[in-house]
Amino acid sequence: MSNLTAKLSTKTPVKIPPGYLNIMGYVDESEVNGPGCRAVVWVQGCKKGCSGCFNPDSWSFDLNQLISIEELANKILNNPRNTGVTFSGGEPFLQASALAELANILKSRGLNVMSFTGFTLGELQSKKAPCGAKELLSQLDILIDGPFVETLAIHSPNSLVSSSNQKVRVFNPTLKNQLNWASDRLEIHVLRDGSRIFTGYWGQLGLGEN
Ligand code: SF4
Repeated sequence: MSNLTAKLSTKTPVKIPPGYLNIMGYVDESEVNGPGCRAVVWVQGCKKGCSGCFNPDSWSFDLNQLISIEELANKILNNPRNTGVTFSGGEPFLQASALAELANILKSRGLNVMSFTGFTLGELQSKKAPCGAKELLSQLDILIDGPFVETLAIHSPNSLVSSSNQKVRVFNPTLKNQLNWASDRLEIHVLRDGSRIFTGYWGQLGLGEN
């Protein structure tokens, strides 16, 4: 089976226990995935199949890392350098209810919340929106919406989006002057178990080992 076929073979979302998230990765203190210094949560599972996707390993809906909302909130809050959190993926809005709950906890503690999505804002506000979309939207300070379209790709270090159809929606006006994160930079996070996470380039996630 080709890699692509393997990735597409698990396109049906698996049942995630209530109160849990199925994530692909997590880092603290990222400076390339939104304003300031922030945690990043990459969720597992996406149905879009965009050609040229930065994180095709996130497409599968198989269980990857199951983590409770409470544990993830504590992880993020336990690092005082995290002033916000970014949800990336995978498709955050396919786990919208759990992310809305997580965002609610973090916002009550003063963090700001941003999300990428392959849906358009119009789709998320429509009757066909995924379950929990309205709740998650109501928690967001910033949304970057729209799928990655390879033919519209922007190859500029100054762009906050990776293709020109995508939009940056700033719902919290206090963040309007902070749309200056280094989206062209690559960060390497070395985790305690020796594995490495590469991130940058508009939410890209790469995994490596020592
Ligand atoms: S929506 Fe995002 S994660 Fe999903 S396939 Fe497209 S670029 Fe990849």
